[in-house]
Amino acid sequence: MCVVCRERRYKDELIRLAVDEDGMVVVDSEGRMPGRGAYVCPGCVDYLKWGKTLINAFKGRARGFKGFAKSGCREQDIF
Ligand SMILES: [Zn+2]
Repeated sequence: MCVVCRERRYKDELIRLAVDEDGMVVVDSEGRMPGRGAYVCPGCVDYLKWGKTLINAFKGRARGFKGFAKSGCREQDIF
């Protein structure tokens, strides 16, 4: 399920997000990062911003995110 639009899709249609060792949310393009993942559909990646959606998706383990390459790597404030 996409964390932005909450639409149910197959996992292979979704982009997996994971938290790296610094607590930053990153795109897990290989789908191999350990721990809990969150999924977002390709059309929603650009709408993803730092806030409750990501905090809840990772149950408080995420501290921030840097934006994603697709959306031009916007630097986001660390929560
Ligand atoms: Zn979506």
